[in-house]
Amino acid sequence: MLPRSLTAAFARALLPATFTLGLALVPVLARAQTPESVRSDSPSAAASDSGLAAAVAPGATPEQRVAEVRANFTPENRSYSSKRQLLGFLDPLYGIALGLLILFTGLSARMRDVAHRAGSRRYPRVLVYIVLYTLVAFVLGFPLAWYEGFALEHQFGLSNQGFGAWIGDELKGAAVGIFFFGVIPLVALAYGAIRKSPRRWWLWLGVGTVPVIVIASLIQPLVIDPLFNKFTPLRDQQLKQEILDLAGRAGIPGRNVYEVDKSAQTKKYNAYVNGFGASQRIVLWDTTLKGMTDDEILFVMGHEMGHYVLGHVWQGIIVFSLLGFVVFFGSWVLMNWAVKRFGGRWGFTELHDVASMPLLTITLSLASLVVQPAANSFSRHIEHDSDIFGLEVTRLNDAGARAFIKLGSQNKSDPEPSALVEFFQYTHPPLIERVRFATEYHPWTEGKPSKLFHGRVAAAQP
Ligand SMILES: [Zn+2]
Repeated sequence: MLPRSLTAAFARALLPATFTLGLALVPVLARAQTPESVRSDSPSAAASDSGLAAAVAPGATPEQRVAEVRANFTPENRSYSSKRQLLGFLDPLYGIALGLLILFTGLSARMRDVAHRAGSRRYPRVLVYIVLYTLVAFVLGFPLAWYEGFALEHQFGLSNQGFGAWIGDELKGAAVGIFFFGVIPLVALAYGAIRKSPRRWWLWLGVGTVPVIVIASLIQPLVIDPLFNKFTPLRDQQLKQEILDLAGRAGIPGRNVYEVDKSAQTKKYNAYVNGFGASQRIVLWDTTLKGMTDDEILFVMGHEMGHYVLGHVWQGIIVFSLLGFVVFFGSWVLMNWAVKRFGGRWGFTELHDVASMPLLTITLSLASLVVQPAANSFSRHIEHDSDIFGLEVTRLNDAGARAFIKLGSQNKSDPEPSALVEFFQYTHPPLIERVRFATEYHPWTEGKPSKLFHGRVAAAQP
């Protein structure tokens, strides 16, 4: 919503520093809230919970694991993932179409007129405009948001969330967007730059984005995430000790490992690393804790520890900051062209007129779409490095393969997407490649050196 369109555009540039285990879900201004977390220690209970079509027994051969990936990609899972892939292309186009509608109907100019009654200074005008724009975008964007975030998830039995809780999260997301872009005057500052420096504002916005990304990455786990979910230390004491031992070997302070009650929203599995410096943390979804066995969870943690130890959050901040310059430059070119061509019809002739905000959103979306494949390629590269690290630190090859099979099956994701879909949408290597790699990568059995983890490995590991 605005937060969809504006945040999707900004968030893609602003808050990228979250690395997950599986396919990137919603980017940042995420979603969620409360209840209970449970965990089963019994592998059989876990297997039946994970909804696998084909069993995942311990100790299968690499070929059997690859066959299992395909067997678990059932017609139902295929149907879900193809809808998701289509939505991956449609969603940004829908946002762009809405922006054009708001411009060509003159609605943007009218919202600007209302905003100008708030005073002569830029800050109140931008704030009022953002509130109005958020409301309009929320209403117009609702049908697709509802289908994508609620109806589709329920149709495929992936949601644990009632309509009230879902819409509550959406409204919270919109409020967070208004707060961070409007109340904190980020957009007002951007408009100040657009007014003062018509030829170079893209450069200033690119520069200004760097500290915003850094601060946003720092506060996200402390301020934004807890608005949607409850974060607690791991409750399973035995597993917690095994994870702390693993973290100790990887050089990560154990206090930075959390579980989150994502079962409040979804049945899907995931885990992630976000924050940085003092706020950096590894978070396991309680659904993952419930559905995976201990050795699978340890491999998942090994992967997440890779992100942490290999400095992926910092690298992400640098790479996405650089891409931010490209995105703002593209936006600058497109906006200058569009306002000359259509500004008269839209009711504004200057880019520093707040009525241009839908145009800013559209052009940021378009430019983001162009750089998305580069961002995805970078992301797939570091995800593969984290897989290497996870295998090296745990040496749990088969558990890694099983974890990926469960992840793909439970989340109904396509293990072998087309090259086009991988190029535009996949932030992680396709699961079939990850399963194959997990089963085949064990240089330590051949006396070869590890690539990324050079510390001590637990004696008990096979
Ligand atoms: Zn990852």
